[in-house]
Amino acid sequence: MSQPIGKIRSPAAPIFLPILTLGIYSLVWVFKLLREARDYADNRNGIQITSPGLAVFLFFVPGINIIWAIMMLFKLPGLVTKMRKADGIAPHLAGSAGAIGWIGLIPVLGSLLWVILTQSAMNDFWRSLERGNAIQSDMKTCPHCAEQIKKEARKCRYCHEPV
Ligand SMILES: [Zn+2]
Repeated sequence: MSQPIGKIRSPAAPIFLPILTLGIYSLVWVFKLLREARDYADNRNGIQITSPGLAVFLFFVPGINIIWAIMMLFKLPGLVTKMRKADGIAPHLAGSAGAIGWIGLIPVLGSLLWVILTQSAMNDFWRSLERGNAIQSDMKTCPHCAEQIKKEARKCRYCHEPV
């Protein structure tokens, strides 16, 4: 598994940083989230990730930007749903991707909550991949029966041959 794994961020960062940087960080955040997902999904069939550059550009197109912003409320949490599904990871927040979008439509408090929920869902996905990788590196293949066994094993638990 050599796919790049996204950065785990504090869900609070996307809230407080825009105040300091006049909202620029919000766009950087959207860009980074999409770029990490795209880098991760690049070699996977069936997952289409919106181009991060296009996503940011559309926020600057008058008339389209409002519609686009609303779409992103659903698209970003939906991205986690898609990636979990493609990786065969049980849906967790996945089922509520739509619900997260609706929460984001509530002015002020809703949008803060949306950022936290979206970043948390993303973090949770990256963490579950890290856990998956850790489990994998703990294992080796039995030379006798080709089953996956623990690296420290002296005797295969499937064919009982010494390894
Ligand atoms: Zn064996």
